[in-house]
Amino acid sequence: MAQRPYIVGNWKMNGTRAMLSEARAVDRAAQRHMKVEVALAPPYTLIHAVHREVEQIWVGAQDCSPNPDGAHTGDISVPMIADAGAKFVILGHSERRQGYGETNKLVRAKADAALEGGLRVIICCGETLETREAGKAEAFVADQLKASLPKLEDAGEKVTVAYEPIWAIGTGKTATVDDIAAMHAMIRKLLIETYGEEQGAEVRVLYGGSVKPENAGEILGTPEVGGALVGGASLTAETFMNIALAAGDTVEG
Ligand code: PEP
Repeated sequence: MAQRPYIVGNWKMNGTRAMLSEARAVDRAAQRHMKVEVALAPPYTLIHAVHREVEQIWVGAQDCSPNPDGAHTGDISVPMIADAGAKFVILGHSERRQGYGETNKLVRAKADAALEGGLRVIICCGETLETREAGKAEAFVADQLKASLPKLEDAGEKVTVAYEPIWAIGTGKTATVDDIAAMHAMIRKLLIETYGEEQGAEVRVLYGGSVKPENAGEILGTPEVGGALVGGASLTAETFMNIALAAGDTVEG
């Protein structure tokens, strides 16, 4: 069954309670655009507040600990974010892989913990410009995913992959439609090898990297692009929901 496009906003380290009005506005607009599934990942400190303010959209976290509890100063566990209202968690974002040395093994451990705790996961992958220019982007992303993806029976429902070329994040640059199509086709093949024909076909593969209303239609109309992970453009409801509208326009009916 074809899934609705999935548009996820990653607020990163932005937002205080003053931004709750944006979350409310996103939620109201999402109620009018049911062809698209909309979600927001605010910082930990706002998960509960956003969860209480919204009715339609899902709220998630931007990371979690692989540990359920204990002496891990500064960490936040899956039971904590679930208790705050999170339904999903973004894992392996390049800003965590690069900034905090997160390995594929750690991303996989976090994914296992999240699934065990009843959350869905968005597993991020993506190459540097250097890797792309060396002609190794697809091999790099394949290796990253093989080692980061959790093993489970019902991946179609619980796992989403976000392909985010690192050089396109927050830079205003986007990959070409041909590059996106080639990478997403490779990822789909790998998902089918990993999860089988049926489940592998159901896993949504998002594109991320400077998606904005002006380029969303073209990107989201690319084969195998099941939605977008949006950073900067998710910080205002109007811009974010214009991306969701463009996603809705790619759906027939
Ligand atoms: C991201 O960080 O996931 C992202 C895609 O950011 P931006 O949209 O700002 O490039």
